[in-house]
Amino acid sequence: MKTQVLPATNEALSLAAELLSGGQLVAFPTETVYGLGANALDKDAVLSIFAAKDRPADNPLIVHVWNRDQLANICEVPPLAERLMDAFWPGPLTLLMPRKAAIPEQVTAGLRTVAVRMPSHPVALDMLRACNLPIAAPSANRSGKPSPTTAQHVLTDMDGRIPLIIDGGSSDVGLESTVLDINQPVPCILRPGGVTQAMLEAVIGPVTVAGSVLRPLQAGEKALSPGMMYKHYSPDGQVSLVEGDETDVLAALRELHRQAAANGHRACVMCFTEHVAALADCQPHDLGSKDHPEEVAHRLFETLRRLDDEHMDAIFSEVVPPEGVGLAVMNRLGRAAAFRTIQAKDVIKNA
Ligand code: AMP
Ligand code: MG
Repeated sequence: MKTQVLPATNEALSLAAELLSGGQLVAFPTETVYGLGANALDKDAVLSIFAAKDRPADNPLIVHVWNRDQLANICEVPPLAERLMDAFWPGPLTLLMPRKAAIPEQVTAGLRTVAVRMPSHPVALDMLRACNLPIAAPSANRSGKPSPTTAQHVLTDMDGRIPLIIDGGSSDVGLESTVLDINQPVPCILRPGGVTQAMLEAVIGPVTVAGSVLRPLQAGEKALSPGMMYKHYSPDGQVSLVEGDETDVLAALRELHRQAAANGHRACVMCFTEHVAALADCQPHDLGSKDHPEEVAHRLFETLRRLDDEHMDAIFSEVVPPEGVGLAVMNRLGRAAAFRTIQAKDVIKNA
């Protein structure tokens, strides 16, 4: 199959709507990451998403809408959801709501709830309006790879597998949406994203964060958000997180890079903009400013993908405090590193 990449003109959006109505797949930009869309009401179209991504069938999809009236066919809408939608839609907040029968169980991987979101990206909204169908869309990457934040990333993963990619430039937030479970006494963030715990609490009061956000699942522990089960967000090389005081971390990054390079690895560091000059000899990859976690979020997946392009196999990274958007950054970076963490002090002591 030939994959077309088209800028988001009216003609391209009409073509997208036609393809989606005919049961085909279209990749499209959103403010979080690029999505791989199919008609959420068409079981076969939904199954072809799993095939194109090599996605395990037990990892459910998010249904995208442009208009709240579409929800009537998709899910029950509790009063709490109305308040959250008033405050955060359109935007990077996915709500889990009790599923209705029109949604095939392939979308929800057999779960009782369906994940729904209204994206704020104007191209996504225009496309959803043009086809006027609920669109099931996970991130448009091959399963296990970092989510795509540009049309080029999608092309790298999906060339020959889907007919159309709509190019809407680079995704603003750069990380997937916040997934909130509102079907329990205290709503729980299953996946952190651009809408933070503090933002949610300002609107609905106490919100908890699932324990597995900042650590691997433990033996026998059930994944509340199935996507968290899988090796995810990973570049091909091995990523290690380096923790400690700023000066110690810089010294440790230099030492770790030196040792890895001496052992014949293609080694590099991921560091804040403020530290690029100090780490100039360590193949620095700029994560963005340490004072702007939104910038780190925006760049993270692109940086992880670049490591693969450069065939890096030993990657040492700084970390951000796991607060606000930093929680979402550390959730993804932690998984990219399989939670492998090195204490800077130990490196310096043994150097
Ligand atoms: P993606 O858009 O590729 O990030 O995939 C959507 C993610 O949303 C999945 O990996 C799950 O973690 C989450 N999700 C979707 N539906 C549900 C659900 N019903 N319950 C819990 N998590 C869900
Ligand atoms: Mg994904």
